[in-house]
Amino acid sequence: MNLRDHKDTKTRRRALEKELSVDVPHIAAYTPDLEIASTKNCENMIGAVQIPLGIAGPLKIQSSELKVQSYYLPLATTEGVLVASISRGCKAITQAGGAIVHTHKVGTTRGPVFYTGSIREGTRLHNFVKNQKAKIKKIAEGTSNHLELKDIKTKSIPNYTFLRFSYDTGDAMGMNMVTIATQAAGEFIEKETGIPCLSVAGNFDVDKKPAWLNSINHRGIKAWAEVVLQRRILKDILKTTPEKFFDVWLGKVMLGSAVSGSIGFNAHIANVIAALFIATGQDPSHVVEGSLGITTAKVLDSGDLYVGVFLPSLLVGTVGGGTSLPTQKEALSVLGVSGAGKVEEFAQIVVAACLAGEVSLLASLSEGSLARAHERLGRDTVKNQK
Ligand code: NAP
Repeated sequence: MNLRDHKDTKTRRRALEKELSVDVPHIAAYTPDLEIASTKNCENMIGAVQIPLGIAGPLKIQSSELKVQSYYLPLATTEGVLVASISRGCKAITQAGGAIVHTHKVGTTRGPVFYTGSIREGTRLHNFVKNQKAKIKKIAEGTSNHLELKDIKTKSIPNYTFLRFSYDTGDAMGMNMVTIATQAAGEFIEKETGIPCLSVAGNFDVDKKPAWLNSINHRGIKAWAEVVLQRRILKDILKTTPEKFFDVWLGKVMLGSAVSGSIGFNAHIANVIAALFIATGQDPSHVVEGSLGITTAKVLDSGDLYVGVFLPSLLVGTVGGGTSLPTQKEALSVLGVSGAGKVEEFAQIVVAACLAGEVSLLASLSEGSLARAHERLGRDTVKNQK
């Protein structure tokens, strides 16, 4: 299906529903019954803001288990040009044979801070955690039917000790689950050692803050996507060449990020993650971790272009949090990943969508059309009003 064949929202939505055999009545209605959100997602609720939802794609993806599938991406945004640009990236990747993706669950982390007061007490806490791991695991896992404690890392500075608990949280992003589990574990440690836990969240997680620790040690799910774009596709769809694309990648993504002290080395991964996260009921503040992504590029001996994306710290869920709200659940169902057993497939879609965003923006910058496209599509300019 070519989404652009449909000239209004209603016919486009109906065509998508027919193609995917899904119904999206709440997305269509604009004003779903959100009382459900007032009980567990939002306090003092008075209503809802509306964010336009666009569809990019189809995007062909091949997982490392060799499953090949095409997806339509639901993107919630007010940035004109974003959906069109990601859609162009999807078209280029799909015509090139699809994105190859791979994911690995690292674990959702919680990092409490203990006040030890001295190096000797810090060492005592470190040894206690090492020796009592089995007991701590039992207590933490006793708080949930879907949580497994995978690791506890310790870091001591003279009079404080930080613990970084990593958990497999099943199909949920898991921040509530790991907070509850770590609170129980922390209370046990405090009671047995007499060393006070100052905060269950001691910024050693690192939750919702940009940090090299998440970039290097990872958090949530780490995800890879790659594609080889033939020179013809760069010419016909992206209106550029592999060499021009590579030059912009080197100057902007690598050197520009280096001179700016950026942690992420990418063009605009946060843009794609924000739009997908808002559409599908993820926690939008985890765009921070998503933005740590690295984009790579190389002109191959064949003259074609390799482009890759690595997300070191992707926090997503297909159950829990905001994923069961009516419109968000429908957006997940458009992707075919609503509910249990789907979280890694969702992560694979997110990283492939980021690749599409990177391909399109870097191509656009390399042939100088970024400003023109935003002026034409994304603004109420004097020119457009004429
Ligand atoms: P949640 O909705 O609080 O918990 C997930 C629930 O889903 C659990 O009750 C879990 O069961 C259940 N579940 C059912 N099937 C599951 C499956 N297949 N896999 C995993 N769980 C399954 O969601 P969460 O993901 O833990 O937390 C997300 C929320 O945390 C977001 O709204 C986010 O904004 C918020 N958040 C909280 C903190 C914090 O410090 N608390 C920090 C950042 C973000 P069990 O009862 O067996 O566990």
